[in-house]
Parts: sequence; structure tokens; C-alpha cells
Amino acid sequence: MENMNLLEVHDLKVHFPVRQGLFGGVRGYVKAVDGVSLSIGAGETVGLVGESGCGKTTLGRAVIRLIEPSAGSVRFEGEEITRFSGAELRSRRRHFQMIFQDPYGSLNPRMTVGDIIGEALDIHRLAPEPEARRKRIEELLSQVGLDPAHFSRYPHEFSGGQRQRIGIARAIAVQPKLIVCDEPVSALDVSVQAQVINLLQDLQTQLKVAYLFVAHDLAVVEHISTRILVMYLGRIVEHGPSTELIADPRHPYTQALISAVPEVDPASKRQRIFLGGDVPSPIHPPSGCPFHPRCPVAESRCRREVPQLREIKPGCFAACHLAR
Ligand code: SF4
Repeated sequence: MENMNLLEVHDLKVHFPVRQGLFGGVRGYVKAVDGVSLSIGAGETVGLVGESGCGKTTLGRAVIRLIEPSAGSVRFEGEEITRFSGAELRSRRRHFQMIFQDPYGSLNPRMTVGDIIGEALDIHRLAPEPEARRKRIEELLSQVGLDPAHFSRYPHEFSGGQRQRIGIARAIAVQPKLIVCDEPVSALDVSVQAQVINLLQDLQTQLKVAYLFVAHDLAVVEHISTRILVMYLGRIVEHGPSTELIADPRHPYTQALISAVPEVDPASKRQRIFLGGDVPSPIHPPSGCPFHPRCPVAESRCRREVPQLREIKPGCFAACHLAR
């Protein structure tokens, strides 16, 4: 148990059927997640990056069973959670929570802040006495930097950043061991983003909670994550410790993402790599390496052979024929 990861995902797939008309047969599958393996240690933050449409949100939801995986294994504290259902699954749900991208749409506008946070406590019967419940909600509000006196206010009375703090309070209310943060700052003003990230980091220190931090922006995950996974068209194309991956990316896709991050050092010689087009449709993925239509260094074999993830240097993996 000592060295076991909190979360171990192996060869996870989420394939959505594509039907011919309303009642027609299945004519194909959208392979939103196609054979992903990853692990997260207790109290660790792992960043998951990629352009929109690459499958990262689906993956984030599938590891906590908000979306049903089509195949693969998800072990949480050693237990295979894909085989749980009903009460068994509900009892585990307390340990993994989610913070959503949209702080406007993810809070019920007809519920007070106290009830939004209290609902999570009620589901898991964590504060059945009204007095203890109220005290705990007030404690959570101040823990996320909100005024406990705002207990009876409604979501529309708060700014975007404050609403995201309410979402964070709801997630930590049940003392989870893992939180999937799905683009938690991308809908917020840049000035507010850093405050919310700092709050998440402070909470991690206090609560020892692990994060799977999903973002399209490498600059955001760089500072919060110990390791980064780069996803493209349903697969992990590169992963490694954050500092090494940012300083020395080996996959052309990661290199392009990093080249787009604005640099603080004016003396830096980093060249911007522009990628043509969008992420291709996962219904008809390209042959061979799925990145080859956009890859600036693709060779003929890239169109035929699918590159597998290989260890390029200790702890750093890339799925590219040319990565060294
Ligand atoms: Fe580019 Fe080929 Fe590497 Fe794919 S395998 S990333 S197409 S060089």
C-alpha cells in the first residue's frame, strides 16, 4: 500500500458510437480516448494538456466515472472502480470530485451558496445536524477566501472568480483525495486566474489532495504540475516531469504548444512553431501517426506506422518515430 499510486489508469478507452440517422445502426466510433494510461500519486498534481477536441475533458471525466469508459482499467487506491455501480460507486465518489470549467453554468442559480455547498455534505451525510452543517459551510467559505456571511446569497451575486471559489468549496466539502480540475481558470480574467491557481495550491498543501489539472494552456499547468501529459486525438503523445518536458520537449506537437507560450525573458531565442489546421476528426483519424497532417517534420513512414510511446530519456516518454 505504501508506494501505491492513488490513481492508476491502464489502457482506458472511451468510444462513442456514431449512428446512421435517429434509429440507424452504428456506422463508426468517435475514439475520444483511445488507450490512455496514467498514474497520480497521493497529493500530486498531474497536468493534462492539448487543444480543444483532443479528448482531455472526456478522459478527466472517465477516470472518475462521470463518463463510462468503453474499456480499460481505473484503479483508485488499488480498487478497480470500473466494476462498481449503485451504492458501492456512490460511497467511493466522495473521494474523487470535480471542479468545472464554467463557473456560471456549474452552479444552480436557484440555490443559495449555503445549499450548493451543503448539498455535497448532505449526499455523504457529513454534517447531519443543522448547526454543524452551517458551521462547516461557513468554514469552507472562509477556506476558499469568501465571506461566510454570504451563506444565503445566490450565484448571480458573485463575480466569475468568486463563483469558481464556490465550486472549489463544493468540491473540497467532502474531503476528497483527488479532484479533476477541468480548465478551472480558462473562463476567468487573466488577473483572477493566478488567484484561483494560488488558492488551489494552498488547499493542496493543507488538504493533501491530488489534482488532475486539465488545461489547453501549457503556461497554466506548468506552474502547478509535477508531471505533464500531452494529449492529441485521444492519445498521450508525450509525458514527463514538468520542468524537463517544458525545457526539452521531444514530440513536435509539444514543441509547437510550448512555442506558443509567451516568454518572460526578452533575450530568449525561442521560435514560434505554427501548426496548420485544427485537430482532425476523431471519427476518421489520419493513418499512421495521427499528428502527421500537421507535423512540420513528418516523413513518409509517419503516414503508415503508428508511433508507440517510448522512453526517450529516464522518466520522459514520447510517441514519435523521430524523437531521440
Ligand atoms: Fe511528426 Fe512523424 Fe513524429 Fe508523428 S511520428 S510527430 S508525424 S515526426
